[in-house]
Amino acid sequence: MKNFSGMASFLKRFARGSREAKSARSLAFAISCLLVAAPALKASHTESSPANNERASFLLAPHDSRFNCGYDPRGAEDEIHNHRLNALRLSSRLAPTAARSIKHEAQDEGDIAVIEDDGAIIVPPSKFDLKNRSLLFTPEGDGYLVARGDTKLSTDFGFRLGYFFGVDNQLLSNADNGYRDVPLLGAQFPFYGVYYDTIFIGTNGYITFGQGDTNARLSAAALATELPRIAPLWADLDATDGGDIYYNRLDGRHIITWNAVSETSHSGKSTFQAVLYDDGRIAFVYKKVKTSSSLIGISPGNSELDPQAINLSSPPAEVIRGPLFESFSAQRRLDLPALTRAFYSTHADAVDAIYVWADFSYDNGQGVAHSFNVRNNIEGIGLKLFDRGSIYGSPSRLSSIITMGNQNDWPSDPQQHVVGLNSAISIVCHEQGHRWLAYIHFDAEHDIKDDLLGRDNSHWSFLVDTRTNSEGSFSSLMEGNAWRDNGTGSFTTVESAVNYFTPLDEYLMGLIPADDVGAIHYLVTDDQFKSLLREKSPITGFSMNAIRKTATVEQIVEREGPRVPDAASAPKEFRIAFILLTEQGAAPSNSTVKKMDKYRDSLVRYFSTATNRLGSLDSTLIKN
Ligand SMILES: [Zn+2]
Repeated sequence: MKNFSGMASFLKRFARGSREAKSARSLAFAISCLLVAAPALKASHTESSPANNERASFLLAPHDSRFNCGYDPRGAEDEIHNHRLNALRLSSRLAPTAARSIKHEAQDEGDIAVIEDDGAIIVPPSKFDLKNRSLLFTPEGDGYLVARGDTKLSTDFGFRLGYFFGVDNQLLSNADNGYRDVPLLGAQFPFYGVYYDTIFIGTNGYITFGQGDTNARLSAAALATELPRIAPLWADLDATDGGDIYYNRLDGRHIITWNAVSETSHSGKSTFQAVLYDDGRIAFVYKKVKTSSSLIGISPGNSELDPQAINLSSPPAEVIRGPLFESFSAQRRLDLPALTRAFYSTHADAVDAIYVWADFSYDNGQGVAHSFNVRNNIEGIGLKLFDRGSIYGSPSRLSSIITMGNQNDWPSDPQQHVVGLNSAISIVCHEQGHRWLAYIHFDAEHDIKDDLLGRDNSHWSFLVDTRTNSEGSFSSLMEGNAWRDNGTGSFTTVESAVNYFTPLDEYLMGLIPADDVGAIHYLVTDDQFKSLLREKSPITGFSMNAIRKTATVEQIVEREGPRVPDAASAPKEFRIAFILLTEQGAAPSNSTVKKMDKYRDSLVRYFSTATNRLGSLDSTLIKN
């Protein structure tokens, strides 16, 4: 496994596709696909135009202008599932955990809440423990009986899958985050009582039914609530540069093999099989697994039942109805509900956002940070209303949790430029922005439009004009670009930094009324180019031919409803808490506490500036 400590690797984590060789090759493929598709482009797009030459150089750039901020729409649910898995781990220990004996109250350092692990917050590595083993799932009633199996890995792999489809069902140039539909030869396969004649084999170690999936973010919540799924090893796998995926039909069974595939950011190779028997039994067969994190499970999909955390090495004797899973991590993880409950044992439920920093390294997910909402009580911003606050120890107020990882990975100066057009503190403020942004669709042309949305449908599209002042040198903290109209059908991005929130952002944050937003401009291009561009982070000096269109807040309101509460009654001051988590028996250094204080103070000031002094953060800790 690669070492994630230190600034160099930290910076690498910002840019997806940090393996230059791999990403250059895949982007070259992307370009060739684009050129092949050129006849389908609109007449204004000619391959020889300067704008298109720039588009080519942009797409071929070694970095691909995206950073993974770690916002996770299913984070609240998934951290609860992790918490339950941790509870299972703690309950199966021979010796009970030491009772909580730490006086958290005494450990507050000014406005930094220092919390020491009590043995229940930091989850030790849960290494994959099924090497050279197999699992057998036998259908019984409306569930499955899980048992250790004795199936051996078949060496008759069969047909190699040579290509895959990506999100938006586009043909992929590589074998990363893709799927392939495979008609089942010989016999249909019954799964949770439904017979299927096609399976969708995902590069990320799962099989889905009904349609393909490309999700690389392991999620017990997605396992339960999305597609019917068989996941022998859900991991961020990539079979582009080595390893292959196969399908075979043998007597009485279908065999799907992932052979010597590795994770996107790690080099260890994994080989495993799923065997689908005609009578409905399923076997997972593991030869070797080398992943930093993975999830194993099965699910009927669209389930109202919570996914059940189980220990697959020693499965329960009873039939399990509904989704079931176990997850593994080579690194330590955090039990966030346990952590926030420890915080609330000494602090009032008076905080809107909790920021968690650690002074040690742990698995903080695939992004540079990790953030999610635990409740939403605001209508009209494109987020559904939900409330999981109580499980996190906040019956009434907490909205979002942001985990920043190891503070050592962050520069000592919060203003330091870090990646793309971002400083460290602009990234922290970006995470705060996810409390409200950017999730909205709008109605136009008798259709529901998603043209404002970009990466993960939670950032502004690269094609949206999100300039934050009339001089046009900044784009929104939540991405998009400042687009200059060159007057000839071409447009150029002109921002020098992401900074500030736009009027549309401020409306969604409850800071200004709808009437003050004005027109929202976005660029329209052909679908294929749009799907290549929309997910990218802002960049300066990029030109393209496009048609400019306009959306209005009225159209957003038509789709999402009015914002409730509206700007007249919505809060303008938000309370945040900085938690610094330390290992058991370890106290943080003075310099670490000082650095946290610097970030806390910077964020408070930055947020005020970014909202044009319409909003503010209060980081004072309130004891209960
Ligand atoms: Zn983000």
